[in-house]
Order: sequence, then C-alpha cells, then structure tokens
Amino acid sequence: MTKTRERRLPESVQSLCRSAARLRDQVKGRTISFSPKVFLPLTRLCRDRCGYCAFRQDPNDATPNYMTPEQVLAVVRRGEELGCREALFVLGDRPEQSYPGARLWLRQHGYDSTIEYLHDMCSLVLEETRLFPHSNPGILTRRELASLKQVNASMGLMLESTSRRLSEPGGPHHRNPTKDPQLRLRVLRDAGELKIPFTTGLLVGIGETGRERIDSLHQLRRLQSRYGHLQEFIIQNFVPKPGTPMEAAPGASGREMMETISHARLILGGSANLQAPPNLSGRNLRYLDYLDAGINDWGGISPLTIDFVNPEAPWPRIAALARQTESRGFRLKARFPVYPEYFQGPSSFLPSTLHSRLRSEADPDGYFPAGSLRTHPPVSTGEAAGAH
Ligand code: SF4
Repeated sequence: MTKTRERRLPESVQSLCRSAARLRDQVKGRTISFSPKVFLPLTRLCRDRCGYCAFRQDPNDATPNYMTPEQVLAVVRRGEELGCREALFVLGDRPEQSYPGARLWLRQHGYDSTIEYLHDMCSLVLEETRLFPHSNPGILTRRELASLKQVNASMGLMLESTSRRLSEPGGPHHRNPTKDPQLRLRVLRDAGELKIPFTTGLLVGIGETGRERIDSLHQLRRLQSRYGHLQEFIIQNFVPKPGTPMEAAPGASGREMMETISHARLILGGSANLQAPPNLSGRNLRYLDYLDAGINDWGGISPLTIDFVNPEAPWPRIAALARQTESRGFRLKARFPVYPEYFQGPSSFLPSTLHSRLRSEADPDGYFPAGSLRTHPPVSTGEAAGAH
C-alpha cells in the first residue's frame, strides 16, 4: 500500500486491505485483467426511474427508441478492427411495458418484446463478427435467461444492495419494482440453476450502510457456493449525476470503496474475480489504490465507445492503464467477457458453439493472444448512455 494511502486510511482499514491483497496474491497472483469492449446502449427507455440514473431517457421524437441492427453492426465492426472481443449490451428494463412508442417500434420490426430483439442482436453479432455478446438487460424470466444463454458468452445483473430501506419513500429505489433485492436474487439464482456465467455486484454509496454492504456480500457468497456461476463481482462507486434526483448526494468515499473491496475479497474468497471501475475515480478515489484492496480486474474498457452509464467519465487509455498497473508490480492481460475458468477444458457453462469459438480465440491460459489488441485512445461514438 502506498504511503499516501496509508496516511489517509485508518489502521483498521489498512489492515483489512493488506489481508485482502495478500489473499488475492496467493490465489490469483499478480495478473490484472480487463475486457476490451464496445458499449451498445440498445435502448435507453426504461420502465423504472432510479434516483441516481442518468442513462434512462424519456421517449423523444428526435431520438430513436432502439439502436437499429445497422447501428449495432457498425459499432461492433469498428470494435472488431480495434481488437475488441466483448459486445456489451446495456438497456433499460422492459420499456414496452411503459411506452406505446417502444411497443410500436418493436411490432414494426417483428418483435413482441425488447428481450426478443436483444436476442436477435446478439445472434447478429455472433454471426457477423468475432465479438462475444455480454448482455445486461435487467430483470429476466427463467425462460428468457435460458434463451439468451444460447447467444451470450456471459450476462450480468447488479444486485446493488440487499437493503430494503432503499425502496422506502425518499430512497433511490422507491417505486422501482425491478430493484427489489429479492427479485434480483431470484434472477441470480435462476442464472445459477441454468449455469450461465454471470456478473453481479454492489453499487456503493446510494444510501446503504456498511452492515448492509456486508449482508449483500454474504448473500452473493451463498449463491456462489451453491452454483459457482458468479464469474465476476463488481464493486462500483456511485457518482452523483447532474439533473438526477440524487445530484446533491455525496457519492461513495475512498474509505467506503477500499473497505468494501477488501471485505468483498475476504468474504468471496481468493478465487473470486473482483473488479472496480477505473474510470469512476476522482478527488478522493484513485483507482490504482484499488489494487491495494484486492481487486484482480479492471472490467470492460473501450478503445471506441464511451461509458454510457457514466458519460462524464472517460476510460483510461489502455496503454496508460497497462503502464500504471505495471508500476504497481502487476501484469495487465486482456480477457474475454467470460473468464478463462469457464471455458478452459470441458464446460457445462457455455453452449458448445460458443465454447469452441472461445477456445480457438484464446491463448493457452484463456486470455487474448499477444499482439491481438490495438491500444487506440478512447473515441466517443454516438451519444452517451448507462445503467442497472
Ligand atoms: S438504473 Fe437501470 S433500472 Fe434504474 S432507471 Fe436506470 S436503466 Fe432503469
């Protein structure tokens, strides 16, 4: 841990971080991974209204409700040229339940639901390019999960928090049925029973207490112990956005992030893949310090598209991220949207076609072969977007 950080954090937190980093080193070694991706905001309409969300948009005649297949392919093909292998689909939750315009658009294009359209866009990406879809479409039925598994290398749903208080009047999840923690845990459990490599995590600083964060981590550990499908845990700091109901909220502190990351490492164990986003650090948060608390992954980084959930926060350039990660004694490696342990050797977590494709794309350790990624600076394509 750096001297600056040691001066700032209380000894109890420093000690927690040292234990977490030691456990990471013992099990994961000194490799830090990331996934070169393109970000596809398939639709920014959403039936919910979370108090912190700047991704969600109301219907607007000037803005199409959905990305078209041509728009999806144009972004994905450009990402392919740059060496990206993840097509991250992020979208609002079932907009057709709230907006006639969304229903009309879907019907005109031959679909009954946003999830059906998402399925076909994932298929299109797989048919036309070398990228692997990873979808974050919100709450899904078991049948929808099973269907999307066929066309996704991995999928995701943030638990955010198990705190029910956040749904009370004045809370960020008030009148947002999709943020019911029990509903989210049900989706995570269904994904486990269906053996889908799944990403989840906590959103830190939206009003939950430290005790509630620990409870959330224990719930995730229980699911992981039972099903083994939680391939990745994100510890994401809430950053207030202008124009949202929570614009004046303080956001997560550096101490809260360091404590939560190290608790996550210690509760979820040395083999867990633990990620914190490097583009959301700020005055009291330096992302390189997350290494001191036990992370082993920087998440998806795009050399092409912006972070539509946090449009104000550019991703670090990949070359700079590699240099900085190495300056702390680690090696940066590019991975696929599904982690190596889920496709090396026989796998019941992936359909056979996706399994074979991943095996043929990866090096013997399950990462990108050397020299397969171009490290272009981030360039904004299209408008901003981000959620869930
Ligand atoms: S965070 Fe997700 S569920 Fe909440 S309003 Fe934004 S898009 Fe909708």
